[in-house]
Amino acid sequence: MAWDFSTDRDFQEKLDWVRDFVETEVEPLDLAFGDEHLVYDKKHPVHDEVLRPLQEKVRAQDLWACHLGPELGGKGYGQVKLALMNEILGRSGWAPSVFGCQAPDSGNAEIIAHYGTEAQKERYLEPLLEGRMCSCYSMTEPQAGADPQEFRCAARKDGDEWVIDGEKWFSSNLRFAEFAIVMAITNPDVPVYQGASMFLVPTDTPGIEIVRNVGVGWEGDGEGAHAYVRYQGVRVPAENLLGGEGQAFKIAQTRLGGGRLHHAMRTVGAVQRCFDSMCERVLSRTTQGELLAKKQMVQDGIAESWIQLLQFRLQVLHAAWTVDRVGGHAARTEIAGVKVATPRVYKDVVMRAIQLHGSLGISNEMPFSKMLLAAIVMGLADGPTEVHKVTIARAALKGYEPHEGLWPREHLPERRAAARERFAHLLEHEIGNQ
Ligand SMILES: Cc1cc2nc3c(=O)[nH]c(=O)nc-3n(C[C@H](O)[C@H](O)[C@H](O)COP(=O)(O)OP(=O)(O)OC[C@H]3O[C@@H](n4cnc5c(N)ncnc54)[C@H](O)[C@@H]3O)c2cc1C
Repeated sequence: MAWDFSTDRDFQEKLDWVRDFVETEVEPLDLAFGDEHLVYDKKHPVHDEVLRPLQEKVRAQDLWACHLGPELGGKGYGQVKLALMNEILGRSGWAPSVFGCQAPDSGNAEIIAHYGTEAQKERYLEPLLEGRMCSCYSMTEPQAGADPQEFRCAARKDGDEWVIDGEKWFSSNLRFAEFAIVMAITNPDVPVYQGASMFLVPTDTPGIEIVRNVGVGWEGDGEGAHAYVRYQGVRVPAENLLGGEGQAFKIAQTRLGGGRLHHAMRTVGAVQRCFDSMCERVLSRTTQGELLAKKQMVQDGIAESWIQLLQFRLQVLHAAWTVDRVGGHAARTEIAGVKVATPRVYKDVVMRAIQLHGSLGISNEMPFSKMLLAAIVMGLADGPTEVHKVTIARAALKGYEPHEGLWPREHLPERRAAARERFAHLLEHEIGNQ
């Protein structure tokens, strides 16, 4: 029997170190530098003065960039260990950067590692892995996100160069990035899934215009970090093509599968944080002469949250275990399942946390309203929930055949008749005894 829900003692010691380190050294960064965009602004002095020394401590513990295999300087721990670690990192907006696994750089690094030439790796991958550079992934367009068949941004070959023209939408962190990975159509005569390519585009290339930086939720005009960007006659050398021509979607899948799972792993930690806060609150607040924890409807919220968190955590760990066994591509249904569950569980638990904290819960003196927005984002970024449900349903239905005949296989009269025929001698005996 190989079913086991325990953690190796050696790795548990690492996890204990991570938890203590994140709580004492990293979470203060979230509190002191509330602007989460500073995480990506490598020019801000906090990077050299605080972040780098913290990153050194992480390296000294052999915990740097754990999403990467050993060939790229990671430890090759695999996804299950990464899940256990990411649960802790999910408590803090700065923690992934301290541990060298922040999105979107982590996914971008993975695809350059997989598909990049030696020269591309030297120029883009190494500084990205060392945390010296910030990158952007530029795929979604203003008129189309979930359906790439509507994409228009195109690149044409001109001598030894590619010329990119088009617009992109929600290109996160472009304003801090040294380069963007841009998806563009290079062959309009075939379906987009075979006719789009990826390019490495340095952000100081002439022709890149950020129309505006779009924010989410309550962010003010221009305060956001999701660029609406226009690429106008943007020229890059032929060697900036990433992978082969027409390979954009193959490359995108390499990136997005892992990224979705890593978001889910961190969400386990964020949901746990809501749950912890909720439990403490109901044990601390009195109403009508008794603790909130004594009210049955409050207990219902605690119990439902506990169940959802446990189910979600096990689902994420199972998906991670499946990726370790069969790889990300073969585990795409499990990853899609996790992608659908992530916003639902996060939203449900954070909503209960807000409700049970009352006005304080929705105030800007607690983290929950930001978390609620983050939960909603989880249902959109990296593809909307509906699209992932389609993936799951298609995969599930592949395992079935239509059932012949008028009645379904589970139709009880037919099944009962067959069963009665099998036990006819005993049934006759029973009837005879009556
Ligand atoms: C915070 C954040 C960061 C992001 N960062 C990046 C980034 O760095 N780079 C990047 O390229 N993109 C980024 N995105 C964009 C993201 O990938 C898109 O939002 C996503 O793919 C959906 O595209 P859309 O927003 O155009 O929605 P649409 O494609 O217009 O879809 C809108 C809605 O229509 C419904 N819908 C769509 N398709 C289907 C379907 N097949 N079946 C049923 N219903 C459907 C869903 O309800 C969906 O939410 C980011 C998004 C967010 C929110």
